Amino acid sequence: MKLILFGPPGAGKGTQGELISAALNIPTVSTGAMLRAAIKEGTELGKQAESIMATGALVPDEVVVGILKDRLAAEDCKNGFILDGFPRTIPQAETLEALGIQIDCVLSLEVPDETIIERMSGRRSCPQCGATYHVVYNPPKKLTSQCDVCGAVLKQRDDDKPEVVKNRLNVYHKETEPLKAYYEGKGLLKSVVGQPQVEETSRLVREALGIEA
Ligand code: ADP
Ligand code: ADP
Ligand code: ZN
Repeated sequence: MKLILFGPPGAGKGTQGELISAALNIPTVSTGAMLRAAIKEGTELGKQAESIMATGALVPDEVVVGILKDRLAAEDCKNGFILDGFPRTIPQAETLEALGIQIDCVLSLEVPDETIIERMSGRRSCPQCGATYHVVYNPPKKLTSQCDVCGAVLKQRDDDKPEVVKNRLNVYHKETEPLKAYYEGKGLLKSVVGQPQVEETSRLVREALGIEA
């Protein structure tokens, strides 16, 4: 299955992506995670992206498309993948088509702006492996403030601070949300209303995708 997880920042794409990835045994491909890895490694691309991401704006299409193309060509993407955070603009979606990649489904997670602000303020991320938690809704199960997967100390992402979150939401409504109509027009769009509990959202996601529990 070639799936796009769509929704505003903080809608739960990463969280649901991890669960779908485990259930279907296909990788999650997150452009945000790849960009953060490039920043950590200090590559030229990372340096270019860092100051843009700090403001909540989008990294230029050609930069993101460049890293995505290489990733999708990898062996583990052969049987399908879950795109988290890509495409974010109409030109990015058109690039997927130009590459001959046929998407099976675009699953949109519907979450209102007020809820997003609350979720982002409590989001904690693993700087080492990228796993995502929430201080109230999805705390680590083993040790407070340490990643269940790799043990690293969890952090708040710089762009999850309230001022930046507001800008990211504006950018989402202006540049990314029009993709909903784009994919609806292609008959690929399915919507799930995000629920207050992660498990409840997962149930609706599995139902929408026809995945057995
Ligand atoms: P979230 O998970 O909160 O939606 P991401 O990790 O997907 O955030 O993205 C973090 C930042 O990385 C974005 O605000 C943007 O600056 C950059 N970014 C990620 N994916 C893309 C993309 N497809 N196009 C442009 N910029 C992107
Ligand atoms: P995205 O990848 O779309 O930016 P995340 O999956 O990182 O979103 O989720 C954003 C924050 O909200 C995280 O802290 C996550 O633990 C939390 N979260 C995710 N899904 C839910 C849910 N259904 N209810 C409450 N909090 C959630
Ligand atoms: Zn980790």
